[in-house]
Amino acid sequence: MASVTPATEGLRELVGLSREELLAEMTAMGAEAFRVRQLWHWIYNRGVTDIGAMTTLSKTFRAALAERCGVGRPAVTRALASVDGTRKWLLRFADGQEVECVHIPEEDRGTLCISSQVGCTLTCSFCHTGTQRLVRNLTAAEIVGQVMLARDALGEWPSPQDDRQLTNIVLMGMGEPLYNYDNVAQALRIVMDHEGLSLSRRKITLSTSGIVPMIRRCGAELGVNLAISLHAVTDELRDVLVPINRKYPLAELLDACRTYPGASNARRITFEYVMLKGVNDSPAEARELVRLLAGIPAKVNLIPFNPWPSAPYERSNAAAIKEFSDIVNAAGYSSPVRTPRGEDIMAACGQLKSASVRHRRSALGAEQAPDAP
Ligand code: SF4
Repeated sequence: MASVTPATEGLRELVGLSREELLAEMTAMGAEAFRVRQLWHWIYNRGVTDIGAMTTLSKTFRAALAERCGVGRPAVTRALASVDGTRKWLLRFADGQEVECVHIPEEDRGTLCISSQVGCTLTCSFCHTGTQRLVRNLTAAEIVGQVMLARDALGEWPSPQDDRQLTNIVLMGMGEPLYNYDNVAQALRIVMDHEGLSLSRRKITLSTSGIVPMIRRCGAELGVNLAISLHAVTDELRDVLVPINRKYPLAELLDACRTYPGASNARRITFEYVMLKGVNDSPAEARELVRLLAGIPAKVNLIPFNPWPSAPYERSNAAAIKEFSDIVNAAGYSSPVRTPRGEDIMAACGQLKSASVRHRRSALGAEQAPDAP
């Protein structure tokens, strides 16, 4: 497994470049346009990191290419495996910043949960990542790199069409993906490209805490599934649990969901609802949730809270979670209770965090999304 990143060797990283950017790179080298397709195949279908091994390219061209470009992977600082099969990687990038990503195998699928920021722009009070201030956005290369690394670890090269262990991707790791839209969009276009990693947009879910202006754009441009970090049914409580609610309150958020391009009964929007003891888990809140979802093709994911050090909440008890789920189910919305996975390796929802901290205020300036709180 390659653990060097070309950037550390002053080379141009080819992972994460769009086809247009790869073409510009080829043109700059005086190479023909068809090289783009060849390289795309070697990088994203065969998973090759050694340019010398790309045997459909001439030896001369390979030598010239290797002088200026590289195909890398994030370095793995820690690789953990849970008793339940969940795997977590702590990844380090060329500048030493770190994020986590998690693979969750299930009967009928294998989901990779990837990160989009180091730390997070937002401070949701139930989320471990929310206690880690934003350090920076991930680049498209670093987002795609998580998928490539997981494929390496699962031994899934060449890109299989069937029997994959990595069948789904969720952007539910560290960070708010819609506050890093351009890099996330480029990365997902690469992941969805059918000549390489070839994951269908129907197998990709982007989870947002509710950046209303970007929701519609995401649906129109990427067409991936949408998940909303909802967690409360009143603005008063959601302002505390998901502070971005003060900027985009429930009414605005739910309107954006009602008009989300591509949402239908066959492609429902997932509303994530963390179950916090005595905070948001009453039967009355379950009934209010049903009322709020009227007219939205929705399903609800109930997430028993996963504790983390000094967390200010407790998990709801099983009876309260069941009663809540029954009320929502009875109203016609499927509301499965998510089984915590990888708890023994702190890989469960809301537990991810890295030791990366913000170095200098100035280094962050440009990274902050223009309308971030
Ligand atoms: S729930 Fe998501 S948006 Fe909120 S702090 Fe955690 S990572 Fe950030």
